Amino acid sequence: HVIIFGSINMDLVARTPTLPVPGETLLGYSFATVPGGKGANQAVAVARLNIPTVMVGRVGSDGFGQELLSSLQTASVDTTDVLVDDSQHSGVAMIAVDDHSENHIIVIPGANGQVDATDVDRLSRHLPGAAALLLQFEIPLPAVLAAAKAAHHAGVRVILDPAPALSDFSTELYSYVSIITPNAIEAAHLVGFSVDDPSTAAQAATVLHQRGVETVVIKLGAKGVFCATPEESFFIPAFHVKAVDTVAAGDAFNGGLSAALAEGLPIRQAITWGAATGALAATKSGAQSSLPDRATVEAFLST
Ligand code: ADP
Repeated sequence: HVIIFGSINMDLVARTPTLPVPGETLLGYSFATVPGGKGANQAVAVARLNIPTVMVGRVGSDGFGQELLSSLQTASVDTTDVLVDDSQHSGVAMIAVDDHSENHIIVIPGANGQVDATDVDRLSRHLPGAAALLLQFEIPLPAVLAAAKAAHHAGVRVILDPAPALSDFSTELYSYVSIITPNAIEAAHLVGFSVDDPSTAAQAATVLHQRGVETVVIKLGAKGVFCATPEESFFIPAFHVKAVDTVAAGDAFNGGLSAALAEGLPIRQAITWGAATGALAATKSGAQSSLPDRATVEAFLST
């Protein structure tokens, strides 16, 4: 099984002709509530590929919390250890998108912001026999660090998606990470120079190796993926697809990568699975709604 420790959000998405300026009130076209959060997206991505998936995190004691739990459960994600935090509202992202696809996003972490070492205690029950622990940066860093440490000591592979971009975190965290999976922007934040092609990605990987990460996987969007393990480095071009909306493509990539590793595939093939899952997610709009199931990924890979 795969464990995901991270954020669970409700995205509140408003469509509007233009984005309001300060003090302005506008009439928009439409409104939707859509389950999101990088943690929950990655959990659904793994579960859709038929790998047993455990989500650990927190929602609030409100209607959104119940909806978020049931949407994870519908995707067959084990939510036994998602805590309903009575003191908080569920994490929300208030998103306005205009006619030019420009957006304004306000994320209020709510229950996600309360995740701490007690959640790591619940997570630790699931470590025996786990193939991987997936982490991102939408819950407090001390909790991320404690979970990475517990997994590392239990011999469970830690896969860190360092998103949203941070420029600094403890070198201790790097030392527990088996695979780090930044996109180009996140990689640039980590290393302090711009990363946009295989050669700059290789330079970034060298820096990250020096900080103690075992394997560096840099997602370069429609270009492809660069990977550097302790033994080899290689670049895998992206699949050619008609991209409609790349929201959650990165989460889909991480889901595909982890699912393949959980089945024992070597890193190169696991990256191909990640790239296929990411590319398929880019062909559909939405976050969790765009994540492909196993049959779709297998059919895509066999063409
Ligand atoms: P993020 O969503 O985190 O910004 P990327 O945009 O790099 O990350 O997307 C993650 C992965 O999804 C890419 O490495 C690639 O495999 C796949 N992907 C994303 N966009 C496209 C695209 N336009 N065409 C093909 N594959 C894509």
